[in-house]
Amino acid sequence: MEKRNHSHSRGKLIVVGIGPGSHDHLTHRAEEVIKSCDVLMGYRTYLRLIIDLIKDQVVISYGMGEEVKRCKKAMEYASKGKKVVLVSSGDPGIYGMAGPVYEVLNDKFNELKNLEFSVEAVPGVPAFCAAAACLGAPLMSDFVLISLSDLLIPWEKIEKRITIAAQGDFVICLYNPKSKKRVAQIKKAQKILLEFRKEETPVGIVKNAGRHGESIVITNLKDIANQEIDMSTTIIIGNFSTLSFKNLIVTRRGY
Ligand code: SAH
Repeated sequence: MEKRNHSHSRGKLIVVGIGPGSHDHLTHRAEEVIKSCDVLMGYRTYLRLIIDLIKDQVVISYGMGEEVKRCKKAMEYASKGKKVVLVSSGDPGIYGMAGPVYEVLNDKFNELKNLEFSVEAVPGVPAFCAAAACLGAPLMSDFVLISLSDLLIPWEKIEKRITIAAQGDFVICLYNPKSKKRVAQIKKAQKILLEFRKEETPVGIVKNAGRHGESIVITNLKDIANQEIDMSTTIIIGNFSTLSFKNLIVTRRGY
């Protein structure tokens, strides 16, 4: 696509993953582009996590659910020659801002192709990796990541994915497990998983992994829905080869 490698381009739109939250997990590249940009944009909760890197950049913060607006605004600045950073939590390519940026670019390609800006994604540590590290080594075998949010995907499709992952004996990471309004999904997921896995299957529930307020609960499939779970939580469900011992969850790889 033309948007890559514009040696003559002036403006830049860089979608940056800031990792799970603490600076220990921020990459050097992410820090470098955040510090050197002209315009820094993002969801206000994420901008707060990098507040000490903000000096004289123009800062534009947005609320939840304004992704497309954010992308278009970022493109406007980039097309005026600015270096614009759009921050995303974890990795921007995993349920993050890289998706909407490239989709808007695709939808508006004809309109945008004469504009002089390049687009780049800077990877970040995804929350599921930070959560796995808190638990031990649960992702040592094949695994899947499923979001329980049915805002953009019909619930039937999510149920089908959970069913197939359970049948395939994948370790399963769940994102967006429960919000104030969406409380039933985790119970429905538990019910499906119990058709294929034992009640004692190890489950790790990690809230605020790699950031302030981190909490780790090790439980099992039977008790999963009784735990404190919210939108800052990643849940990791073991497979047939997963063990739980000494507050750890480890999926046997074999050696
Ligand atoms: N781009 C992010 C994911 C965004 S989707 C990434 O690469 O990880 C948002 C979901 O990610 C949340 O609902 C939650 O399930 C999970 N999540 C994000 N940050 C988290 C954290 N610090 N600890 C645990 N889970 C987190």
